[in-house]
Amino acid sequence: MTVKVRFAPSPTGRIHAGNVRAALINWLFAHKNQGVFVLRIDDTDLERSTKENEDLIETDLKWLGLEWQERYNQSKRFDIYQTAADALKAAGRLYACYETAEELDRRRKVQLSRGLPPVYDRAGLALTDAEKAAFEAEGRKPHWRFKLDGKRVSWEDLVRGHCEVDTTSMSDPVLIREDGAFLYTLPSVVDDMDMKITHVIRGEDHVANTGTQLEIFEALQGLFPVGLPVFAHMPLLVGADGEGLSKRLGSMSISQMREDGLEPLAITSHLAKIGTSDPLEAAPSLVALADGQDFGKMGRAPARYDFDDLMRLNAGVLQAMSYADAKPRLAKIDADLGELFWDTVKMNLHRFAEVKAWAQIISGDITPRIEDPAFAAKALELLPDDYGRDSWQAWSGAIKEATGAKGKALFMPLRQALTGMDHGPDMGALSFLIGREKIAQRLKG
Ligand code: GLU
Repeated sequence: MTVKVRFAPSPTGRIHAGNVRAALINWLFAHKNQGVFVLRIDDTDLERSTKENEDLIETDLKWLGLEWQERYNQSKRFDIYQTAADALKAAGRLYACYETAEELDRRRKVQLSRGLPPVYDRAGLALTDAEKAAFEAEGRKPHWRFKLDGKRVSWEDLVRGHCEVDTTSMSDPVLIREDGAFLYTLPSVVDDMDMKITHVIRGEDHVANTGTQLEIFEALQGLFPVGLPVFAHMPLLVGADGEGLSKRLGSMSISQMREDGLEPLAITSHLAKIGTSDPLEAAPSLVALADGQDFGKMGRAPARYDFDDLMRLNAGVLQAMSYADAKPRLAKIDADLGELFWDTVKMNLHRFAEVKAWAQIISGDITPRIEDPAFAAKALELLPDDYGRDSWQAWSGAIKEATGAKGKALFMPLRQALTGMDHGPDMGALSFLIGREKIAQRLKG
């Protein structure tokens, strides 16, 4: 059996951390099992779905490295949903209802005031042909509900273990609106069956849907004789404070993160590991993440999405980045000063773009900071004529001897004079990259 999974975003907005986690875990699972990763655009809501959002989803997934092998749009598959709907109608599982939203609302309020659960009373099911004709004559159009069996639906979830949903406590779900539009539930099941999806991996906000959908899966067996998929419902993301993702994080789109200079591998390492028993660290590649993917390591508690962790991983990705990988990006921002430069400054980067400032410090002009001109003059006097890769040690040693300064009192004024900064990469390599001429000039202030 070939593993086949899908990421099914609705293109009604940009994708954010929560959606991307679903995409990522599906991709990793497919990769680990030599399976197929499907991108299914859930655009049955024609009013709210846009081509622009769809394009952005593709851009984001590609940027993250999550390429798909098959791709579908639900909006191009209405015929097959209609065939499924007809089969359900013929089997008596899909029935017409004529209530308006206000009528349903009123009924729910009455039920609640009597202490009853606000479950749809199946009035539609009892309508005679004459009553239906009367509604239609009034100009009403039916919406269509799926008749639940009203039993306990159960499955073995890869994350949550044994799961049960009691569909007796649920309203029969509306599958088709009065304007004929298919809501998410039926197309999702039809596609999962028709595309032979073997594993449905999604957020735990879909657990109740799974109860309903499993009944639909069973009801459509005649049309699509396939086995039921295996389900994995991942715990939701919460913010660092344990509360729901804050507005800022929850709405942070991938395009925003890209503009903010976050590395795709930092985002994917973070999202693959939060909420698991694995340490939170930057992975060398997506393939390495796939090798380690295991639902058994995923806890049931909400996964903490902490932006500080993400930033730490971002620095980790930069520190592990080889010069060969960095080179084209350095060239693009006119900051390719060679391998030693990259290996030296990468240890101090939080975001890739910061490398530009270090290139400027090395090859451009800076304002040296000199608090003690006598100290700087002494350092200048002791500066070797030939300043090589290993000169720093001997030079700073000589300054120490001559001035008596040591530790911070020795290194800070040199760093400030040579770089204009209080902190930064290793001065041995940095001073060599700056070169004798600029060192001398900067020590003069
Ligand atoms: N379009 C649905 C969503 O974005 C898909 C859920 C699913 O994976 O079935 O929530």
